[in-house]
Amino acid sequence: MNEWSSELNILKEEGLYRQLRRLEAAQAPRTIINGQEVIMLASNNYLGLSTQPGIKEEVIRVIEKYGTGSGGSRLTTGNYDLHEELERELADFKGTEDALVFNTGYMANIGILTTVVGSEDVIICDKLNHASIIDGCRLSKARLMVYRHNDLERLERVLKRTSKYRRRLIVTDGVFSMDGDLAPLPGIVELATKYDALVMVDDAHGTGVLGQQGTGSIEYYGLKDKIDIQLGTLSKALAAEGGFVAGSKSLIDLLRNKARSFIYSTALAPGTIVASLASLRYLKNHPEIITTLWEKIDLLKSGLDSLGYDLAPSNSAIIPIIIGDKEETMKLSAGLLKEGILAPGIRPPTVSAGTSRIRVTVMANHTRADIKKALDSFARVGRKLDLI
Ligand code: PMP
Repeated sequence: MNEWSSELNILKEEGLYRQLRRLEAAQAPRTIINGQEVIMLASNNYLGLSTQPGIKEEVIRVIEKYGTGSGGSRLTTGNYDLHEELERELADFKGTEDALVFNTGYMANIGILTTVVGSEDVIICDKLNHASIIDGCRLSKARLMVYRHNDLERLERVLKRTSKYRRRLIVTDGVFSMDGDLAPLPGIVELATKYDALVMVDDAHGTGVLGQQGTGSIEYYGLKDKIDIQLGTLSKALAAEGGFVAGSKSLIDLLRNKARSFIYSTALAPGTIVASLASLRYLKNHPEIITTLWEKIDLLKSGLDSLGYDLAPSNSAIIPIIIGDKEETMKLSAGLLKEGILAPGIRPPTVSAGTSRIRVTVMANHTRADIKKALDSFARVGRKLDLI
């Protein structure tokens, strides 16, 4: 038997074996998977910008000028004028002094957390924070303390017990990736001020979705200037690839000097950078696209709700349909896929046991007809499986 098969067999026996799905067309409301046309309810391309014609043309123009790869890390040969332009515009968008682009949001979380805290410090973390935050916490050597999801009382209890540490950093998702709900940022900021802690918000799923300008959960709550470290991704509403941190000049300078996931990795290619830059400019010039997105979110959500599905209380483009049992969840997802609806099932370890769910996401360019077709399938398959 090959070295790894027993581990794989365990995953298969536990119903936790994962397989890749092959996409054969653009990340768009209707796409092709394994030769079949499907309605995409699983993309983080919330504003639909990855197929926006003007943005694609700009990317092509930049590739004609600069070629494909970046050729080196930012601190050696891979720092283009485009990286700096994007960072200036991200800082302006987020209302901070400066910003720094990493190759992914994952790498940004790792780079930030391993730089801003160390063994004399404590990170105070919401239980449902994204895996990349958890990995950053583990690598940072700081003490990690976890509080119950969005529970300010528990957070305060932890703050009361941690005064001996040099630095206390509260870290939370702005929008939680598997639940779609928001962190209670006003309460978190109040406690951070009271107990002299720093606050870091990962707004991967808030950027481009929340706030009138689409700058995210911090704008939504009116907390500009109150958050020490803001993380975002370029891979979701900004329709490209990469992560970024926005904050003070000194924070960004420190990260540029010390964050290993920034220093020791080849810079994002010019074509990728300009895709984010063009998407960001598009959003700044067309903030009405956020209203369009929210119309579609409300349409799908109210439709699923009236079918009798148990929806988690989300407030973003992420709509979790709680099924509970992992096998039933995967059966629903497979049944929907047969009908041409891509609505992935999420199981442990991504979510805790007994809370398996279908996680659907909405894009601004879904048509009403796409949403109606999806709802018809949710009705048929859900009834057939006795779930509604
Ligand atoms: N933070 C959160 C909350 C996320 O959901 C994700 C991506 N799923 C990331 C960070 C990582 O971002 P990226 O995909 O750009 O690595």
